Amino acid sequence: MTVVDDVLSAVTRTWTLPLGGGTLQTRGVYGVDDPCTGGVLTQAPDCSAEDVDRVVAVAHAAQRDWALRTPRQRGTALRALATLMRDNAEELALLDAIDGGFPLPAMRDDVNWAGEVLEMMADAALELGGRTIPLSANLHYTLQQPYGVVARIVPFNHPLFFAGSKIAAPLMAGNAVVLKAPDQTPLSAIRLAELAREVLPEGLFGVVTGRGATAGAALVAHPLVRRVGFIGSPTTGRQIQRLAAEHGVKYVTLELGGKNPMIVMPDADLGAAARSAVVGMNFTTTAGQSCGSTSRLLLHEAIADEVINSVVDQVAAIKVGHPLSDGTDMGPVIDQAQYSKSLQAIESGRAAGASVLIGGGRAEGVGDKGWYVAPTVLADVAPQAAVARDEIFGPVLSVLIVRDEAEAVEVANSVEFGLTAAVWTNDLRQAHRMAAGLDAGYVWINGSARHYWGLPFGGRKSSGVGSEESTEELLSYTQVKAVSVTLD
Ligand code: NAD
Repeated sequence: MTVVDDVLSAVTRTWTLPLGGGTLQTRGVYGVDDPCTGGVLTQAPDCSAEDVDRVVAVAHAAQRDWALRTPRQRGTALRALATLMRDNAEELALLDAIDGGFPLPAMRDDVNWAGEVLEMMADAALELGGRTIPLSANLHYTLQQPYGVVARIVPFNHPLFFAGSKIAAPLMAGNAVVLKAPDQTPLSAIRLAELAREVLPEGLFGVVTGRGATAGAALVAHPLVRRVGFIGSPTTGRQIQRLAAEHGVKYVTLELGGKNPMIVMPDADLGAAARSAVVGMNFTTTAGQSCGSTSRLLLHEAIADEVINSVVDQVAAIKVGHPLSDGTDMGPVIDQAQYSKSLQAIESGRAAGASVLIGGGRAEGVGDKGWYVAPTVLADVAPQAAVARDEIFGPVLSVLIVRDEAEAVEVANSVEFGLTAAVWTNDLRQAHRMAAGLDAGYVWINGSARHYWGLPFGGRKSSGVGSEESTEELLSYTQVKAVSVTLD
């Protein structure tokens, strides 16, 4: 038996959730769909509010001793978790590939990157030091203390990466974490929680699965949860803000969607910009289902044709297929809803006058089952068109033409989102001027897609509040306490 055979047969096992040293037997289960067939892949636990309460209670009990460990000791445990994940990388990556339809090489990267984030947070141990503040002859200092049990609610598009990396900051800061795994792709998070028992105290990291409106909402509303870190759609983010406010005073951060511009100016390295535009769309990692995807390509009119031709040639070479097949570059989108949304967006683009340069419907050569969308490039897209303003979260790139720097920045900033942006130019002054003027939380100059752990990642406007992947994220899982010591 190969690892692939092992994982394929393990997918249909009875999935239960770790709970401390034992398991949580939920009363209900729900069907996890297979994006490659449209059928049901397996059943996962469908947590009720009572199930969530049990996981939170166990996490709460584990947190006290964990917070007493020094940051370095906690960091050692996080590094051990990173090693454990890498030791089990093939199994975890296969679970994500099968469950989410993502090509296997991309999911192997995700496992490694989650390990890197755990290690980065472990490296930041001394950032939890607080400050002494020279205000008088007395001693004034601050402590960075944990919240207790933190809720982490994550989306489907990088299942293991989010499960492994988004627990790093809260754990490092001395909290326990309960993770709401994505409805569509819960398997690798469950497996991670099983594995993590080897290196983390029992119950400190809990996973709940099931529906957002029940399991996710119960977690947000739970009285022991005062800190919620959410990643997902703007609609759900706003629901969570409302729900949190109804159930207490809670600190909620939100990492939401994007409609991210990449601007290419005439003096740029056009070949590199065109390659970066395709990479930035994340066609081959997640079929375009990434929050940071540069899904609006804003080309200066002087070089538009050259860049478009190169982009179309590259997109034409993307091989769509089953995520485990050799040579597959891009898999299906996650489910019927995402499939319909992508196809409807293409139709609305056509209706608004856009021309389809490549793709434009269901992918060819993949049969009639599964949620396979052809990688699509739309040109002649007007800035007011829905396809230029709304997040599609599928493999659809919209190309817009701009005449100068001012127009490029204006069009870039004209949407409701502000997550990432990219600028391609070799003019140093123009590059920094545009980066400063773009209303986005994360800007690449002559780049796209790549994240650098330690550089704050977060959105503006409807793309969210708060920053992740950085010291800012670590400190956001602490609360400041000021202490004044009378010495005179
Ligand atoms: P989603 O909002 O539908 O679901 C995200 C999570 O929220 C899931 O675990 C779901 O179960 C849970 N949830 C749903 N309703 C809930 C409720 N009422 N209470 C509590 N939890 C609830 O998002 P999705 O479709 O899984 O993911 C796609 C979205 O995520 C896109 O908008 C994308 O841009 C965004 N995203 C953002 C980032 C970022 O870092 N900014 C990263 C990845 C994805």
